[in-house]
Amino acid sequence: MVQNKKHGIVIGAGVAGLASALYLIESGHNVTIIEKEAHIASKNSLSNSGVIHSGIYYPKSSLKSKHCTYGKKLLIEFAEQNNIPFELCGKYIVARDDRQIKKLESLYENGLSVGLEEIQWLSEDELRKTELRHTSGINAIWVPSAGVISVKSYTKKLLDKVLKFGGRLLTETECKEIKLDQYKVTVCCQNHLSIEGDLLVNASGINATQLLSLMPKLTKTYSTKLGMGSYCFYKDEVPFNSLIYPVPEEHGLGIHITKSLDSDTKLGPNFSWAKSEDTDLNENIIEDFYHDLFGLWKNIKKDSISSGFAGFRPKLHINNELYKDFLILQPEEHNNLAIHLLGIESPGLSASLSIGKEIAQRFRQ
Ligand SMILES: Cc1cc2nc3c(=O)[nH]c(=O)nc-3n(C[C@H](O)[C@H](O)[C@H](O)COP(=O)(O)OP(=O)(O)OC[C@H]3O[C@@H](n4cnc5c(N)ncnc54)[C@H](O)[C@@H]3O)c2cc1C
Repeated sequence: MVQNKKHGIVIGAGVAGLASALYLIESGHNVTIIEKEAHIASKNSLSNSGVIHSGIYYPKSSLKSKHCTYGKKLLIEFAEQNNIPFELCGKYIVARDDRQIKKLESLYENGLSVGLEEIQWLSEDELRKTELRHTSGINAIWVPSAGVISVKSYTKKLLDKVLKFGGRLLTETECKEIKLDQYKVTVCCQNHLSIEGDLLVNASGINATQLLSLMPKLTKTYSTKLGMGSYCFYKDEVPFNSLIYPVPEEHGLGIHITKSLDSDTKLGPNFSWAKSEDTDLNENIIEDFYHDLFGLWKNIKKDSISSGFAGFRPKLHINNELYKDFLILQPEEHNNLAIHLLGIESPGLSASLSIGKEIAQRFRQ
């Protein structure tokens, strides 16, 4: 390790932690990533749709909008430069009744307000001339700038670069305690291992508010409720070349049909509040998904659906109230030495490089 450089400790080797580590190294820090699991990206950064989001869903003033828009640009550049499979196949968001059309209209307005000039509104006649003839949609938005990426290749490349530029990864190393003094942070792990650093990035996903609570108290309370998102796979041919989404629901984007560069076509995720981190799927999941998607995709075959996997959206609550945005918290009470990434749910994959870049910029100042 090169001396006289500041040492950053990153807790969590998901996309947010890996991207933060990479930008910290590029801006002249030594970095150690600690990860409690045996492999990188084994939590939410594995269990997602792999979609490069356009940014259409998020209010203009939000961090989700800022980091999704800029992150998408950085992600596509990173993928091009590093031969990571990705495809900007575009996406349709489909409305099936008058109530959904109202929501679709406000989504379209939001898309224009965040600068997505390429999006198009499709009438029923227009959509019947596209692959949406296989759906029961009556209006749709075409979003050509959305796509998919191989998450496995992306996370592997992030790690390769971190290691190549001198970063360190400790797997099967769980942060149990965090000590803070004026200039130093010490992370204590199992087996009496303690690591001292000049700065800390808490990128521990669904555990981030729990780790925050290991540090000096803040005036507000931060907690996480878990929103479980389950997937199925579709083993047969799919008549869609683009991503097919319903209008979004309150806590998720609705069960969508997503081509994958790493697996069979994914169906999902649904949404339910979870009481634990148990990823066992509901035993009726195939039946439920069939009924849900049948209304959208006319000729879906039940026999081709198989059960998949689940991930957890960290639904951040501040003083027990749902907070719908990302929060990048650098408290004075933690001597500005720690940055906590809270509520990094979707579009965290698309936003990851932009979030990582912001972390490095904040620690440079
Ligand atoms: C169902 C679902 C679908 C999604 N689809 C998309 C999508 O299509 N496009 C998109 O842009 N985003 C999507 N997202 C969001 C995206 O997957 C996440 O925002 C992103 O993966 C979060 O990355 P992360 O690094 O913050 O968390 P994680 O990937 O969960 O990484 C956190 C890491 O911290 C480790 N850790 C936790 N506690 C400790 C500890 N005490 N000590 C050491 N290590 C610890 C964990 O083991 C884990 O590896 C989706 C999310 C879900 C749940």
